[in-house]
Amino acid sequence: MNVLVINCGSSSLKFQLIDSTSENVIAKGLCERIGIEGSRLVYTPVVSGGNKVILEEAMPDHTKAVQMVLDALTNAEYGVVKSLSEIQAVGHRIVHGGEKFASSTLLTEEVIEGIKECSDLAPLHNPANLVGIEACRKLMPGVPMVGVFDTAFHQTMPEKAYLYGIPYSFYKEHKIRRYGFHGTSHKYVSQKAAELLNKPYDQCKIIVCHLGNGASVSAVSNGQCVDTSMGLTPLEGLIMGTRSGDIDPAIIEFIANKEGKSLGEIMKILNKESGVLGLSDGLSSDFRDLEEAYLKEGDVVGKRTLEAFCYRVAKYIGSYAVAMNGVDAICFTAGVGENSPIVRNIICENYLQFMGVEVDQELNGKRGQDLIISKNENGPKVLVIPTDEELMIARDTTELVK
Ligand code: ADP
Repeated sequence: MNVLVINCGSSSLKFQLIDSTSENVIAKGLCERIGIEGSRLVYTPVVSGGNKVILEEAMPDHTKAVQMVLDALTNAEYGVVKSLSEIQAVGHRIVHGGEKFASSTLLTEEVIEGIKECSDLAPLHNPANLVGIEACRKLMPGVPMVGVFDTAFHQTMPEKAYLYGIPYSFYKEHKIRRYGFHGTSHKYVSQKAAELLNKPYDQCKIIVCHLGNGASVSAVSNGQCVDTSMGLTPLEGLIMGTRSGDIDPAIIEFIANKEGKSLGEIMKILNKESGVLGLSDGLSSDFRDLEEAYLKEGDVVGKRTLEAFCYRVAKYIGSYAVAMNGVDAICFTAGVGENSPIVRNIICENYLQFMGVEVDQELNGKRGQDLIISKNENGPKVLVIPTDEELMIARDTTELVK
C-alpha cells in the first residue's frame, strides 16, 4: 500500500510517499512559504534516484500546495505513480489530541470535530493540521485518511505524572495538565531500542532523549510512556533551540515589571528568543555553531550554553531512572541527539558514570545508523537511533485502513 504522509504547518507542508510493504520512501518533499510571496515546492523522487525538482509557483493556500504535490507525484517526467489511484491512504500528523485521542484514528467527521475541539490547546498547530486535512479531502475524495497525534503516546502517563501542583479545578474545568509531544518519535525510538536490546518491548525500561530544535525526554516502562518532559505545551522541560524549558513561573511577572512587557511579548521571548539561542546571547540556536564555539580555546559562551543544555538533559535522565525504578537503555535521537557526539559525551561522561555507563568513543563518532555506543556490560546501554516519524505515521495509517 502507498501511503502519503502529510505534516502540515501554518505556512509549510512536508510530505513523504511511503510504500508500506517495503517501508521504502518513494518520494518526499516540502512546500514552503504557503500564503506568502516566494512559495515553492522542493520535491525528490527518491525511488527513481532522480534529482531534486524545485517548482516555484504561487501557493495562496494549502489546497494549492496539496494540488502541486499530487501533480508532482503523478508528473510524466519526474512523477513516481501513474495516477492518484496508486495512493491508497493518507496519514496526517496532528499536534494535539488532548485527552480525546490516545491512539491514531481514522479521520471521520466526528474525529475531525474532536481535533477542532483540541485547537485551544494548540492554537498555532491544530488549525494548520486541519487545513491540510481539508485540502486532501477536497482533492482526494474517498481516500481513507488517518490522524496520528504527537500527544497520543503519552496518554498512558499516570495521574501523578500529568497533574500540575495547581488547583485541581483547573484540570477539571480547562484540562490543564501535562500532555507531552514528539510522541510518534518517542514510540518509534523506544520500540527500536527494545529490538536492539533483543528484549521484549513490554519488559524494558527505556529513556528516550529526543534532542532537536524542539527537545523532550520520555520514560517508557514496559512499552508504556510513564513520563515526559514537555507539558501542556512544548515549552516545558529541556532547554531547547529557542524555548526556555522549565523556569520559575514567577519569572514572567518579574520580567513584566522590570522590562514593562506584556504577557504576549514575554511568551514570545520564552518560545522564540530563549533556550540555547538566549543562553548564548544570540550566538545561535544551531548546535553546529555552538559546538564550534565550545571547541575554541578560551571560549565561554559555547561552554556555558552546551553545559547548561546537557546538565538539564542529564537531570531528566536521572529523574526518569528514578520514575521507572531502573533503566535498561538511554537513547539519543533527532538532529542533535543523532549528530552530536559532543553532547552525548558531556551527558554520559559527566553525569551517568555512577550508573555504570561507559561510552565507546569510536562508536560515539559514527553517524546515520542504529548503534549501541556504550561498552559497559552492566548498567544501562546507550543507544543512538535515527528517528523516523513519517514511517511510524505510515505504519499506523496502514494498520487502520487495512
Ligand atoms: P526539529 O525537527 O525540531 O526542527 P531536528 O531534529 O531537525 O529539529 O534538529 C535540528 C537541529 O539539529 C539543528 O538546529 C542543529 O542544531 C542540530 N544538528 C543538525 N545536524 C547537526 C550536526 N551535525 N551536529 C550537531 N548538531 C546538529
